[in-house]
Amino acid sequence: MYDTDLATLAVHAGRHDFTQLGVHAAPLDLSSTYPVPDPEAGTASYDAMAAGGAPVGSAIYARLHNPTVARVEQAIAELEGAEACVAFASGMAATTAVLLATAMDGAHVVAVRPMYGGTDHLLESGMLPIQVSFVAPHEVASAIRPDTGLVFIETPANPTLALLDIAAIVESAGTVPVLVDSTFATPVLQQPLRHGAAMVLHSATKFLGGHGDVVAGVVCTSEARARRLRQVRVLTGGILHPLAAFLLLRGLPTLPLRVEQAQRNAVALAERLASHAMVSRLHFPGHGDSDPTGLIGRQMRGPGSLMAFELHGGTEAANAFLRALRLITPAVSLGSTDSLIQHPAGLTHRLMDPAVREAQGITDGLLRLSVGLESVDALWQDLLAGFAAAEQVAAVGAGNDVRR
Ligand SMILES: *Cc1c(COP(=O)(O)O)cnc(C)c1O
Repeated sequence: MYDTDLATLAVHAGRHDFTQLGVHAAPLDLSSTYPVPDPEAGTASYDAMAAGGAPVGSAIYARLHNPTVARVEQAIAELEGAEACVAFASGMAATTAVLLATAMDGAHVVAVRPMYGGTDHLLESGMLPIQVSFVAPHEVASAIRPDTGLVFIETPANPTLALLDIAAIVESAGTVPVLVDSTFATPVLQQPLRHGAAMVLHSATKFLGGHGDVVAGVVCTSEARARRLRQVRVLTGGILHPLAAFLLLRGLPTLPLRVEQAQRNAVALAERLASHAMVSRLHFPGHGDSDPTGLIGRQMRGPGSLMAFELHGGTEAANAFLRALRLITPAVSLGSTDSLIQHPAGLTHRLMDPAVREAQGITDGLLRLSVGLESVDALWQDLLAGFAAAEQVAAVGAGNDVRR
């Protein structure tokens, strides 16, 4: 389903100089400092990096630049069709850098809920010198003020898989740059810059890393915006470790294959989940009335492999479900080779105001499932065990009601 261009890029991006270097695997440079044999050349290189550019000669110091990190940045920029990419120690470090860069221009941010719980909490925390207006998608245009420096959206959104029309939001934002957290989609399924977004953010901890052993964040954007982000990164120090960059690059060639196969599994499971008696609601892009304007096909190449389903019986049923699983790992995070499941109201979206949480459809019985690469039948057997356990709890609850 993905273009061959993307498949080819995923394998070769960031590796164009291998033959010239005489290597077949990426060099890993763990230096914390770099020799500066010529002081004047060193000063020139330092000045270039302090302005957010690339080193001219010595990389000076690992907080300023690292060639292994620069290599994976180049690769991910190519996959997103971006001029540049800036990598950070985590998705949240990337988000923080964007918000700090924004605070230098206009301190007001417009954000559309729902979004990743950590992002939501950071925006609300008062930790950063920004003001935030949370609005519904149709309110973006009227929320823009003279000092608005950023519109922050996430699609598909965590954890309800709500879809936003990127081009429509970009139009509403006018001249204000729009950032899309595209973690759930990956560049395989969605390339927000092609729809007018100014920045794309990924928690590379998820699909891009893909193997559960990397924490990383990236922002893909224009070279001009990338310079601002590198300036923030140099000063605040949220750099990606080169070993994490190496692992990230190692996972990219299989990104299209992983995303495609997980999506195929998810589509097969979604049908079964939607018709199970214990499921009161399934959130999966394209399922039911979740995509009335046809974003799948136009903006996204497919629904992806994340879904959320609401169990009858609330928190108790959800907990019983999780305890009964033997194959699917109860854990936060997503986009790994193995399937992961978690309870948003109890973990990732715990810090949200419960009323706001409910209003966003993050109910107590909601479980978020990240479908991995196991066989559909093995996954379904495990989910059935979860349903059986949840059903018992729900039946006891109903029995109590009858006795009362
Ligand atoms: C996990 C996640 C983040 C945060 O990324 P970290 O790498 O955990 O800091 C941001 N946005 C989304 C959609 C996520 O799933």
